[in-house]
Amino acid sequence: MAIAKRSRIELATQRFEYAPAPESTDHVKIEKRYDLFIGGRMVKAHSQKRFPTINPSNEEKLSEVVEADEVDVDRAVKAASKAFDSWSRIGPSRRARYLFRISRILQERARELAVVETMDGGKPIKESRDVDIPLSAAHFFYYAGWADKLEWAFPNVKPRPIGVAGQVIPWNFPLLMLAWKIAPALAAGNTVVLKPAETTPLSALLFADICMQAELPDGVVNILTGAGKTGSLVVSHPAVRKVAFTGSTEVGKLIQRSLAGTGKRLTLELGGKAANIVFEDAPLDAAVEGIVNGIYFNQGHVCCAGSRLLVQESIFEPLLEKLKIRLGTLRLGDPLDKNTDIGAINSKAQLEKIAGLVESGVEEGAELYQPECKLPERGYWFPPTLFTNVSQSYRIAREEIFGPVLSVLTFRTPDEAVEKANNTPYGLSAGVWTDKGSRILWMAERMRAGVVWANTFNRFDPTSPFGGYKESGYGREGGLHGLLPYLELN
Ligand code: NAP
Ligand code: MG
Repeated sequence: MAIAKRSRIELATQRFEYAPAPESTDHVKIEKRYDLFIGGRMVKAHSQKRFPTINPSNEEKLSEVVEADEVDVDRAVKAASKAFDSWSRIGPSRRARYLFRISRILQERARELAVVETMDGGKPIKESRDVDIPLSAAHFFYYAGWADKLEWAFPNVKPRPIGVAGQVIPWNFPLLMLAWKIAPALAAGNTVVLKPAETTPLSALLFADICMQAELPDGVVNILTGAGKTGSLVVSHPAVRKVAFTGSTEVGKLIQRSLAGTGKRLTLELGGKAANIVFEDAPLDAAVEGIVNGIYFNQGHVCCAGSRLLVQESIFEPLLEKLKIRLGTLRLGDPLDKNTDIGAINSKAQLEKIAGLVESGVEEGAELYQPECKLPERGYWFPPTLFTNVSQSYRIAREEIFGPVLSVLTFRTPDEAVEKANNTPYGLSAGVWTDKGSRILWMAERMRAGVVWANTFNRFDPTSPFGGYKESGYGREGGLHGLLPYLELN
C-alpha cells in the first residue's frame, strides 16, 4: 500500500524538462511613442505629459504614451458627440457590418495582439492567445448580431441609444475589457471615449489602428491614454451620458459618489472574493484542475478568481495533497514562452500589495505553502501560494488579493458552505464541485453571486451575462442584458 502510494506521488510530481518555446516578436511593431486616438485619427495631444509603459516580466520600456488632460478629454468627448448624430441614425445593419469587420480584423491580427498583450501586461502567451483575443473577437461578433435586431430583443418599446459613453477599464484583461465595453455600446448606437489602464495601454492603441483599418466612421471610438486623473475627467465630463467602469471597489465608490444627481447612467464591475466550494462527492482530480484554473489563471489578477477554497472536511487531506502536488508542476517564467503557466505580476505596486497581504496572512497565523519555484531576477514575480489554517476573520480571507494566492477553509454541511461562501462584502462569482445535479441547483439558488460555475471555473462566453452583487458592483456585461445599460427603453 505504502509503495503504491509512493509511486503514485512520484508519478504525479514528475517534472518534465521543457525546451524554451518563445513566441516570436518579429512580427510586432511597437511605436516609440503614441498620440491619442480622437475623431478617427491619431492626433497630437494638448497635454505635454507622457509616461512609459513597461514589460513587467523584464522591466524594459516598451513605449511612451500621453497622459491626456482636460483639453484632450473635452476634444474626445466633442468628437464622440458629433459622431453620435450620424452613428445613431445609420441603418442598424450597417452598424452591424462595422462590428463584424472589427471582429474579423481582431481574428486576422490575433497573433500580433496576443504578443503585445503579453508583453505589456505580463500574462502568459497561451492565455492571451487562447482566451483574451478569441473572446474579444467573439464579443464583437456576438454584438454585431444584435445591432439590427434590437427591436426584436426588446419588443413593444422603441430602443434608442443614449449618447456618448465614457468607459474606464483595468489592466488584467486589457483588450477583453475593451471589447466588453465597446461592442455593446456601438451595437446599440452609442459612441465612446475609452481610457485603458496606465500599465497596459498598448492593445487599446492597436485597437485604434483596427478602427481605422475597419474604416469605422470618425469619432465613433476615441481612445485616451492616461492615469486615474484622466479617467476621472472622462467620467465627469458633462456631455458623457453613460459611464461604464471596471476596476477596484474603492474607485467604483468614488465614481458613484461623484455621479450622484447628474442623471448619468452608471454600471460598475468591481472586485471579488469568490468561494470555490468542493463537496466530498466531487471528482477530485477535476476539482484540482478547476481550483488551479480558478486562482492561478492570469496570476490571480482576475476579479472573479476563486480565491477562497471551501473544502468539505472529510476530503480536506486528499484534496490538499493533490493540490500541492499540482502546484509543484506549474511553470512560472517568461510570459512569451508557450509552456508558461504563470507569468509576471502586472506592476511593482501590485506585487507589493500581494506581498503585504501574504505577510499579514502569516502574521495572523495561517500556514503558508509555496512549491519550490525559481523566480527570474528581473521583473515582478510571485510564486503560486496557498494558505491553510485560515480563519474567516483573517485579511487573506476577506480582502481581494488579486494575485496567485489561495486561502483554504473547510466546512461540514451544505448550510455551512453557503454561510461561509456568502460571508463577504463581494458577490461576483462562485464555484460548486459535486457529483449531484440537485446539489448544484440548491447551492446556485443560495449563492449571492452574479455567476455560479458548476464543476468548472472561469468560463466566459459573450452570450452569458456577467456582473456582481453587493460591493462587486451592478449592471451586467455580456448577453442581452449587456445591451440594457446602453439603451433607452421608454
Ligand atoms: P483601479 O485602480 O480601480 O483602476 C481601474 C481603472 O480606473 C484604471 O484605468 C485606472 O487608471 C482608472 N482610475 C483610477 N482612479 C480613477 C478615478 N478616480 N476616476 C476614474 N478612473 C480612475 O483598479 P485596478 O487596480 O486597475 O484593477 C484591479 C481591480 O479591478 C480589482 O479590484 C478587480 O477586482 C477589479 N476588476 C473587476 C472586474 C469586473 O468585471 N468586475 C474586471 C477586472 C478587474 P490607472 O490605470 O491609471 O490607475
Ligand atoms: Mg505595461
